[in-house]
Amino acid sequence: MKILVLNCGSSSLKYQLIDMTNQQAIANGLVERIGLPGAILTHRKGADKFVIDHEKQLANGLVITDHKTAVALVIKALTCDKIGIITSMDEISAVGHRVVHGGEKYASSVIINADVMKVLNECSKLAPLHNPANITGIMACQELMPTTPMVAVFDTAFHQTMPVEAYIYSLPYEIYTEHKVRRYGFHGTSHKYVANEAAKLLGKNLNELKIITCHLGNGASVAAIKHGKSVDTSMGFTPLAGLTMGTRCGDIDPSIIAYLAHEMDLSVDEIDNMMNKKSGVLGLSGISSDFRDIETAAEQGNQRAQLALDVFTYHVKKYIGAYAAAMNGVDAIVFTAGLGENDKVTRANVIEGISFLGVNIDAEKNNVRGQARIISTNDSKVTALLIPTNEELMIAQETQELI
Ligand code: ADP
Repeated sequence: MKILVLNCGSSSLKYQLIDMTNQQAIANGLVERIGLPGAILTHRKGADKFVIDHEKQLANGLVITDHKTAVALVIKALTCDKIGIITSMDEISAVGHRVVHGGEKYASSVIINADVMKVLNECSKLAPLHNPANITGIMACQELMPTTPMVAVFDTAFHQTMPVEAYIYSLPYEIYTEHKVRRYGFHGTSHKYVANEAAKLLGKNLNELKIITCHLGNGASVAAIKHGKSVDTSMGFTPLAGLTMGTRCGDIDPSIIAYLAHEMDLSVDEIDNMMNKKSGVLGLSGISSDFRDIETAAEQGNQRAQLALDVFTYHVKKYIGAYAAAMNGVDAIVFTAGLGENDKVTRANVIEGISFLGVNIDAEKNNVRGQARIISTNDSKVTALLIPTNEELMIAQETQELI
């Protein structure tokens, strides 16, 4: 069985075709700049990479004007004689769509039908930057593949198990009941996947473990996973909360917004834009949102770059401590995503700062990138692990289960 996994952004579309017999991606790619000049498809089959740019498409009479043309181009690439991997679209048994927000309605993945589409549209209010693009991608697929089953896999679903004291904000209760303002949490597919994989690597039952998963990428979040269920997570009503991130500020005193509105004569939207796009390690360092650039600058003695790294490490440590308390213990701490998988220095700095929990980094084991393994010393009471995330595989697995 082959499953197509799609992740639609407002102007991009990421895809992977996964062969479920061996759970391997047999092709993947990315369409960028949908609807804009210079749109481009990068398609990979094994080690081969093919780039189909705007000019080539124009020459072939194809322009990526919208998500439907983007999906059509992806299907064309997958089924084409030269760069394709399947003979016809019929070989795709199902499509798994990443959907950012499922609100309180969805605590697990769901087969898409007209009722589900209605709920997804309602949830757009909660995720105006993401859900509309996800919905556009689903509709484009439905038009082109009307008989293929489609499944929605939500970033929020895994966190729906949080107890009320973890998800409620101390605002008037009606703000929750009438406006649905509460902690939802995101990156759920990734937290769930790496927690499962960590249990497998430890040879233990997930239902017996207390795990803290640290998804540290450009967007970053920490989750407390008790006996396989998310009981708390650092992102909140939106993905702006929690840790400092590439460009997002994470937790700040909410009164700062009113203060800045008066003091700097800024609108709420301008402040929102500042908190989402100009803050985090970019705002602190003034250099970049990419940790690699910041680390280089810090090595060259740039103090604000060092400050950004220190703040990030401090936030991760603080959340691990909080979640160890929330679960009244912790057995394993997992690092994943771009920074968590590739940056041994940040992993070591975080672990060194929480040695009171009984975890110590093994420098040799930690000297690795993107490989699932234990990175703490054998005598550690709490095990630290590196587990590469694979959200696409998780989406494909959930899609396969449902169909
Ligand atoms: P997202 O999916 O949120 O965009 P990723 O999980 O792909 O983010 O992570 C991307 C980030 O990972 C980059 O911005 C960079 O900061 C960080 N990163 C990747 N490789 C390294 C590395 N070798 N050292 C430090 N940071 C890295």
